Amino acid sequence: MKGRNVLRAVVVWLVGVAPVAAEVRQAIHFPDLPGYRTLKCDLHMHTVFSDGKVWPTVRVDEAWREGLDAIAITDHIEYLAHKAFVTADFNAAYEIALPRAKEKNILLVKGVEITRDTPPGHFNLLFIRDGAPFNTADIFAVFDRAAQQNAYVMWNHPGWRQRPRWGEVQSRLAERKQLKAIEVCNGDEYYPEAFQWAIEKNLAVIGCTDIHDPSLSPAPTPALHRTLTLVFARERSLEGLREALEAGRTLVWFENCLMGREQYASAMFDACVRIHPPHHRTRDRLHVEIENASELNIELERIGDAGPAKITLPARAISLVEIALPTGDPPPLAYRTRNFLIGPDRPLPVNLSIPAAGK
Ligand SMILES: [Zn+2]
Ligand SMILES: [Zn+2]
Repeated sequence: MKGRNVLRAVVVWLVGVAPVAAEVRQAIHFPDLPGYRTLKCDLHMHTVFSDGKVWPTVRVDEAWREGLDAIAITDHIEYLAHKAFVTADFNAAYEIALPRAKEKNILLVKGVEITRDTPPGHFNLLFIRDGAPFNTADIFAVFDRAAQQNAYVMWNHPGWRQRPRWGEVQSRLAERKQLKAIEVCNGDEYYPEAFQWAIEKNLAVIGCTDIHDPSLSPAPTPALHRTLTLVFARERSLEGLREALEAGRTLVWFENCLMGREQYASAMFDACVRIHPPHHRTRDRLHVEIENASELNIELERIGDAGPAKITLPARAISLVEIALPTGDPPPLAYRTRNFLIGPDRPLPVNLSIPAAGK
């Protein structure tokens, strides 16, 4: 065999036989809710088509690797940091990323970010058809065109660099029922006022990264993960995502906490925490195992008369809990948890009910 043929044979063997390193996707552990799929979503991020530092396909690769289901690339309309080198095209990032999103099973929402001084502030327009018409100075013309495209309008980072202010534009959008969502958390920032408005004005509670740099995130931990939105969708599709966002079925995962409406926080707590029947009982004590299937390190504080003053349930683990009890059936164990906030500084109240032994 001539040298070149040997080389060719080796190359063919390497391509055909040698093990190829599989791409690895991290899983984010939050269970589905009854009737709904829990979609992990980051609906605010940037690429080189505005002032981000990565090519659009990189956002898809990062999202897949980090266990997300859906993303929106939302480059600024008004701020194009690289326009001397990258063409000003308000559809390009989506068009470049879409084939990769299909390959990687990531739901890609087409979006842009409207970037104005505050007031009125910044807004994401999601589920748009065409980004070009939004390149106009008149902010109300922007929202008229958003309505023509049936865009989903979200108010971004209301407390960025200042105290949040509900302005005239927000009121007009709300009157027109065009404002659907508000970023309660953006990256490492949390805006309690925005959380209160979301609850009072019936807006979806949203959390996003607004990432500009490459994401170098390792495996998610309670302390170190993307800020993102859990969306409870009837199906894992763009239509399912849109319907769930319109209905406000969301929770924000920020630091070691989920935030949102009580009904979803409560349903998620019930889905995450499973109390096993007591495996050991003495005259005045129960031993039970409590499972936490979520990414949160859950801390429970007693608000009733029975049970330990504090119970800690580490993420994705089973904890052994000893409960001192009077004789007879266990009374309801009333607790609250700051890992699930149902309003600014409002921890979720929960009742731990211990199943009867042998069930
Ligand atoms: Zn912004
Ligand atoms: Zn942004």
